[in-house]
Amino acid sequence: MLNIVLFGPPGAGKGTQSERLIEKFKLIHLSTGDIFRANLKNETSLGELARTYMDKGQLVPDEVTIEMLKAEVLKHSSPIGFIFDGFPRTNAQAIALDELLTSLETEISIMLALEVEEEELKKRLLARAEQSGRADDADPAIIENRIAVYNKDTAPVKTYYQGQNKFTSIQGTGSIDEITQRIFNALENIQA
Ligand code: AMP
Repeated sequence: MLNIVLFGPPGAGKGTQSERLIEKFKLIHLSTGDIFRANLKNETSLGELARTYMDKGQLVPDEVTIEMLKAEVLKHSSPIGFIFDGFPRTNAQAIALDELLTSLETEISIMLALEVEEEELKKRLLARAEQSGRADDADPAIIENRIAVYNKDTAPVKTYYQGQNKFTSIQGTGSIDEITQRIFNALENIQA
């Protein structure tokens, strides 16, 4: 199986690049942000709970997020592989993901970390808000908070994968095609 952690701060281009990866490798795309938003839309109790955190730009608690992700992974029998987009966002989530994949006799193949400067992220998120309608993209204070949470709780997850020799830094600026090419190049190395 090819199991990719697509990592990066909010606005780094994880969703856009996921689409390219799905097209090429036919992987199953699991975006925890998308799953939470689907729950919000359907007014589930999980959505109601998630809303209180998402609205402030905070992380949904690990126990809730991990259980949800596990259930999503287990929905698929004999998949080619997964793209984990926006997960793991804490070391506890990374450990839980390893345990889950080990129980399925597989593992993370690579972490692709999209690197983008903070000023560029803020610009992108505000621009995205106009199309996405996402409240958490439209408010500069919430954007600041999401980036602060990323720096404090999420960026350390890079070290976790560095320890497993799976961390790959990808420059996340330039054209969408250029970034896709960098990702494909990185994947050729691990598949060889
Ligand atoms: P995203 O679409 O990835 O930017 O996520 C939107 C929001 O969903 C985040 O700001 C968090 O509130 C929540 N969220 C998404 N993924 C996770 C995660 N792995 N752990 C905790 N909260 C998450």
